[in-house]
Amino acid sequence: MAEETQIGPSIRAQLAKASPVIGRFEAMILLGFVTGRSRENLIAHDEDEISEEEIMRFDLLVAMRSAGTPIPYLTGSQEFYGRHFHVTDAVLIPRPDTEVLIEQALLVAAPKARIIDLGTGSGCIAATLALELPGSTVTATDASSDALEIAKGNAEALHAPITFAEGFWWDAVAADAVYDLIVSNPPYIRPDDEHLRNLECEPIGALTDGIDGLECLRTIAAGAMAHLAPGGWILLEHGYDQGDDVRQMLEDAGFAAVRTRKDYGGNDRVTMGRRAD
Ligand code: GLN
Repeated sequence: MAEETQIGPSIRAQLAKASPVIGRFEAMILLGFVTGRSRENLIAHDEDEISEEEIMRFDLLVAMRSAGTPIPYLTGSQEFYGRHFHVTDAVLIPRPDTEVLIEQALLVAAPKARIIDLGTGSGCIAATLALELPGSTVTATDASSDALEIAKGNAEALHAPITFAEGFWWDAVAADAVYDLIVSNPPYIRPDDEHLRNLECEPIGALTDGIDGLECLRTIAAGAMAHLAPGGWILLEHGYDQGDDVRQMLEDAGFAAVRTRKDYGGNDRVTMGRRAD
């Protein structure tokens, strides 16, 4: 009897089949994605039968998940700061840690701020700031044209007004472009960091500089003062053990009020500095 239930086309049978492989929580997410049903609907109607085609798609996703593909790449979506962003493996999956950068940006942004997000990836930072700070002007850059396509799609879907520019860091914008707020979550993982091995589905160029984890942060910090209006702020996301280095970088570049905010895991995560008048 039990075996019969496990191969049936009912929602309950499909969940029973996949749960030992990827866990019930993720099985529900993937089955919800395939059938277009909410979690509540799956639970309330678990006697319902789903189609053979849906079962095939579900089986494929379960196999990919169990081989290590992150859920957001399977469903094509990740929530960030209360909004859904489309993601593919051309962009880093938005992390809750980065919401600390958003919170800090909302605290320091002047009204009608000119904002630039360097290395925007999915566009989650740029779009969130454009929507949370109406009246601001947001520019978002990326060296990857594939990433820019994803970011543009997200900006359109969310009605976030953003200007996009392609290029590496400051090369993407005019030499005399000036902003009131510079934000970035650049690749900062050291190439020898064990943590990278767990992230092998994500674009390597969005995770590490291939040098020491500080190279992109250095490039951004070194060029920032020339692109920042007096009184403006720079906010940089970085690794848990890079706070000292990034504070030093910003102090060397002439920034004032340099300090670091921790993420909700208690780790150094965002270092900021202000251009004095
Ligand atoms: N915070 C991400 C992680 O550790 C990395 C983000 C980045 O390199 N910019 O998984």
